[in-house]
Amino acid sequence: MQVHVADHPLISHKLTLLRDKNTDSPTFRRLADELVTLLAYEATRDVRVIDVDVTTPVAKTRGVRLSEPRPLVVPILRAGLGMLEGMQRLIPTAEVGFLGMVRNEETFEAVTYAERLPEDLTGRQCYVLDPMLATGGSLAMAIDFLIQRGADHIIAITLLAAPEGVARLKADLAAVDVPVTLVTAGLDEKLNELGYIVPGLGDAGDRLYGVVD
Ligand code: URA
Repeated sequence: MQVHVADHPLISHKLTLLRDKNTDSPTFRRLADELVTLLAYEATRDVRVIDVDVTTPVAKTRGVRLSEPRPLVVPILRAGLGMLEGMQRLIPTAEVGFLGMVRNEETFEAVTYAERLPEDLTGRQCYVLDPMLATGGSLAMAIDFLIQRGADHIIAITLLAAPEGVARLKADLAAVDVPVTLVTAGLDEKLNELGYIVPGLGDAGDRLYGVVD
């Protein structure tokens, strides 16, 4: 797995505001959205295109357009939903699949509670959206799901990642042929005993959508 930590002053600026515990939900949502669009620019560097003819008002020339099958964007519910619009802004014609996952707060392992994905992902580039790569449980499960269905290139986009989660993904994917890239706005210090990223930004789902008991 390749790891790309975005190194851009605008991304760092927005990430700092996102981390601030005094940032309210509407501002948090807007910042997450803006950050994803910036990250998506980096994450789509290898999006597949085909050469096409185009006629400008002046002359005929050659250009490119996105190839078929279209990329698939997969937000991991619930927090990944806060990243969907930012991604769609950059690739409006991408298809969208959904994976609902929740973390067991005792084992920190992921449990899938909803899935709406095409059965056959052969030849598909898939962009998985999850703001926080903590233990890596949900992302590992999501990536495995997509590979089982035939995806042949997976790009995970996160706002923050913990070294523990990155190490787990690397270990899980060591024997996997499908190329996987992680694009993240920040790689933090560690996980704490509650499974939160330190310094992190708290619970991304709660900060996006409020607390649900
Ligand atoms: N999920 C979150 O929302 N925040 C963390 O710090 C870790 C996992």
